[in-house]
Amino acid sequence: MTEAAESTDVVRDVVIIGSGPAGYTAAIYAARANLNPLVVAGSVTAGGELMNTTDVENFPGFPDGILGPELMTNLEQQATRFGAEILFEDVVQVDLKAEPKSVTLGNGTVYRTHSVVLSTGSAYRELGVDGEKRLSGHGVSWCATCDGFFFRDQNIAVVGGGDSAMEEALFLTKFASKVTVIHRRGELRASKTMADRALAHEKIDFVWDTEVIGLEGEDKLQTLKLRHLQTGEESTMDVTGLFVAIGSDPRTDLVKDQLELNPDGTVRIEYPSTRTSLPGVFAAGDVTDPTYRQAITAAGSGCIAAQDVEHYLADVKELAAVAL
Ligand code: NAP
Repeated sequence: MTEAAESTDVVRDVVIIGSGPAGYTAAIYAARANLNPLVVAGSVTAGGELMNTTDVENFPGFPDGILGPELMTNLEQQATRFGAEILFEDVVQVDLKAEPKSVTLGNGTVYRTHSVVLSTGSAYRELGVDGEKRLSGHGVSWCATCDGFFFRDQNIAVVGGGDSAMEEALFLTKFASKVTVIHRRGELRASKTMADRALAHEKIDFVWDTEVIGLEGEDKLQTLKLRHLQTGEESTMDVTGLFVAIGSDPRTDLVKDQLELNPDGTVRIEYPSTRTSLPGVFAAGDVTDPTYRQAITAAGSGCIAAQDVEHYLADVKELAAVAL
């Protein structure tokens, strides 16, 4: 682990912000290229979204699947083994235009660096309806693997029609007496395997073409207010738990005023490279990707980012040598 005092006078080759599959893969490759990467992994979000999943069945190399947290621990250990330094802190500010660039942590430490890899992933989307914030943690959750246990023998609902919603619903059948998936369209977006599994499950019901328009309950969630999107008819459903699984948005708060973004909010990169609109700043994983968003695609782009960093630093050093 790096001591905070070490940071300010040294200019690092690369600081990697974020620690999902993209960040850790970038760290593995950068460490093996002797770039001594510093990974700022996050204080509570280290490991990224896979820390909240159970079985990952489609990451190549694991024929029997692997648990999400185990995969992330493996990646972290692999990065550390090659010399990456990992800090379980949050970045609160960056200056990406300066040379060297600076990365400020929540504890006040400022790191200076020639390059940055941004791999901050994405954050769960909210419904944006009345009662959602107030009842968050009181029946409303974004993580079945974290909170499912508290809903034993209860009647709960999941909103969404993608793979996340199906995964949440299937996981929740282990605890709940009944799981109702509420989806705003008449067909699922989820992959066929996941959809078929959920559709065939005896504990899972589906409510189609319906949106959640409000959440009610004094101290705990009691009732969902629903609206049928074809007929406009409003209704209520009594549940003690609601799991929101409607996708996620790229985490760009740190950089949105410094880097060019795409209209969908992802960081713009010069695909197939990971170069952003600023020299020496690279972005990888879900923060750049509105489409594929898989652990393996994030890991692949982290690998590209580390190689882009290597080439960038070599070019910068060559230019500096010519100038002497
Ligand atoms: P997603 O595929 O974008 O699906 C989001 C779902 O939520 C869609 O059905 C969408 O409806 C619905 N939705 C969006 N905003 C909504 C709103 N405001 N109110 C109500 N519903 C709303 O997101 P995801 O399920 O999180 O999956 C993201 C990516 O991760 C995908 O590529 C997926 O394959 C992958 N993933 C894979 C696995 C796995 O393989 N085990 C597990 C989880 C996720 P519409 O359908 O109408 O757009």
